[in-house]
Amino acid sequence: MTHLRRFQLFITVSIILFITACFPSNNSAKKEVLLQGRTMGTTYNIKVIATPEQVETLKLHQKIDTVLKQVNQAMSTYIPSSEISRFNQSESLEPMKISDGFARVLKESIRLGELSSGKLDITVGPLVNLWGFGPEQRPETVPNEDVLASTRARIGLKNLHLDGNKLSKGIPNLYVDLSTTAKGYGVDVVAELIEENGFGNYLVEIGGEMRLKGFKHTGELWAIAIEKPILDPSGEQRAVHQVIIPKDNAVATSGDYRNYFEADGQRFSHIIDPDTGKPINHNLISVTVIHPSSMTADGLSTTLMVMGAEQGMAFAVKNDIAALFISKTEYGFTEQFTVKFKQYLK
Ligand code: ADP
Ligand code: MG
Repeated sequence: MTHLRRFQLFITVSIILFITACFPSNNSAKKEVLLQGRTMGTTYNIKVIATPEQVETLKLHQKIDTVLKQVNQAMSTYIPSSEISRFNQSESLEPMKISDGFARVLKESIRLGELSSGKLDITVGPLVNLWGFGPEQRPETVPNEDVLASTRARIGLKNLHLDGNKLSKGIPNLYVDLSTTAKGYGVDVVAELIEENGFGNYLVEIGGEMRLKGFKHTGELWAIAIEKPILDPSGEQRAVHQVIIPKDNAVATSGDYRNYFEADGQRFSHIIDPDTGKPINHNLISVTVIHPSSMTADGLSTTLMVMGAEQGMAFAVKNDIAALFISKTEYGFTEQFTVKFKQYLK
């Protein structure tokens, strides 16, 4: 009997937890102003070091919601009228004029796709859907080889052409999915907005992707705790694994323990290896990347996750990436990091 189960948020919901100092505010009137909300099917948490009056006068919270709405309206595959959805629905091979933001995310995603020889592939969406992880939410069964082969024929960056703000497809049924970089881009856009409004000390987090700058209101640098993944279905157990001080950078984590399904005792990740057309199947549990751009960190963490610990580590060293790999072993967990990551360890 086929036994299918879906585990959403199976282990600890997020391996990242902020270390928030609960110090009383010091002499200056500046505090940690917390702005929260929902976007991209997840939550956001933003901390700006400012006076509440400044944030209020500048209408910062409304401005943040407005830019995030714009990002969604351009890049969400869950919104049928978004730019990306209209591109995906169209079978025309004629170029479509796209917004600057959408072009910026596509350009960086394509660059990372080429750099990784196709391991990061934003056209992999039909395979994500086939395995039941996309907006179509198909039944979670293991697809047969014929369906897999015909779906794989629709994949590949060679079928996507970006020329400035003009985007076109090489085959009518190409489908673009920016889940690996759009969330990070949202973080970058919010960080840029906060800076434009005159604030130099902040932490922006959307669904686990974050970018920080400057200092907390206590005068200390922002510190982030990367939690040890615990195989605990209740998600109640948490243990601090490693504290990092990322300085003025973004931190992104990709992991296959958060979203997967099981069939006949085998785990199927939501991350697809474009070279096989199948979900990744290796011992790498999570990858954390530190980079000035959240969009790049987001894309790179998934890229390294697709590659696995060995190939990922070699790629990170070669491309000078600050990366931390946590892998499962017979006895528990093991971690590896690049020299570039080492400087951020506390
Ligand atoms: P998370 O959702 O935990 O942030 P990632 O940032 O690693 O995870 O992104 C995973 C998502 O990326 C998947 O749900 C899927 O939509 C998409 N995806 C899966 N495999 C690939 C791949 N090889 N290249 C690009 N996108 C992928
Ligand atoms: Mg991600």
